[in-house]
Amino acid sequence: MNLPANMQAAFLTGHGGNDVVCVGQRPRPQRLPGQVLVRVAAATVNRVDLYMRDSGAGITHALPLVMGLDGAGTVAELDAEEQSLHLGQCVLVHPGVACGRCEFCLRGDDVLCTRMQLLGEHRDGTFADYVSLPARNVFAVPQGWSDAEAASLGVNHLTAWRMLFTQAQLQPHETVLVFGVGGGVSLSALQLAKAAGARVIVTSRDASKLDRALALGADAAVNSSTEDIAKAVQGLTGGRGVDVVIENVGAAVWSAALKCLVRGGRLVTCGATTGDQPGADLRRLFIRQLKVLGSTLGTLAELADLLALCGRSTWRPVIDSSFPLDRVTDALDRLESGRQFGKVVVQVGTAG
Ligand SMILES: [Zn+2]
Repeated sequence: MNLPANMQAAFLTGHGGNDVVCVGQRPRPQRLPGQVLVRVAAATVNRVDLYMRDSGAGITHALPLVMGLDGAGTVAELDAEEQSLHLGQCVLVHPGVACGRCEFCLRGDDVLCTRMQLLGEHRDGTFADYVSLPARNVFAVPQGWSDAEAASLGVNHLTAWRMLFTQAQLQPHETVLVFGVGGGVSLSALQLAKAAGARVIVTSRDASKLDRALALGADAAVNSSTEDIAKAVQGLTGGRGVDVVIENVGAAVWSAALKCLVRGGRLVTCGATTGDQPGADLRRLFIRQLKVLGSTLGTLAELADLLALCGRSTWRPVIDSSFPLDRVTDALDRLESGRQFGKVVVQVGTAG
């Protein structure tokens, strides 16, 4: 197949607002042995795209940098001896390219890799016609899933999966409290916890988002702009508290989150959008023997497990809105506004 030398991409030329986001031609990535070249059809925006646009501090990278972490499309080029994938196959990508050699990779915890390179952060990402990455990072799309739905799994659902099932070890009879249910990880956590049979309580400051979460299967909703979350959750659980809290809001809700937990309960955090230095409440932590767990993204094996579930599930990721690649800044604005409910999709796939 004759592949074009260049491709359309959305890339950063600097840091600081939408002015540094360019949509135009970039050289098509040259596939290395062992890699798969994916022709991207859809990707979604994640909060880290906003972070890379505005700062990128602490992330080793070079400019210009193609944006985007998750994505789905078709296999455009691969090694002749590649056994598990084939040309033209519908695939989605795991955004973390691990070294495969460090102590964490060797024990299967590749998400902890000391030399991890993430798409759209350390290396060129998915807001482009093509992305090239190791074959082990490329997975078959579940039967019947659209490109946008499949792309949505690679960051938010994968993160929620690791939080619920690896870190918190959620059991079907347990109750989960999910903070800020409009956000991508929170909405994914609601869907996955329900799929696992757990009872799910959600919070939001937005009544319309709570209504939508209830329609998606949430068992109870707490409006954090009008209700005291800890009191409401204690009321909903007969004064017992929840087994698991899924949290990425940070300082603004940390104290309430700890007060919602049953003795021995687990809190898993994957973000701190309102601040990362809340009071630790150590007395509550040790007397009630709470567990606080940090989590980010997920391993290759966890994505494989998630996809196995997706292959026999009727639920689908919630799509908030969809923008063509040349309107990527509108997609970023939509995420930044906080008004979205579900994933904001970027349609790519305009290569000739
Ligand atoms: Zn490694």
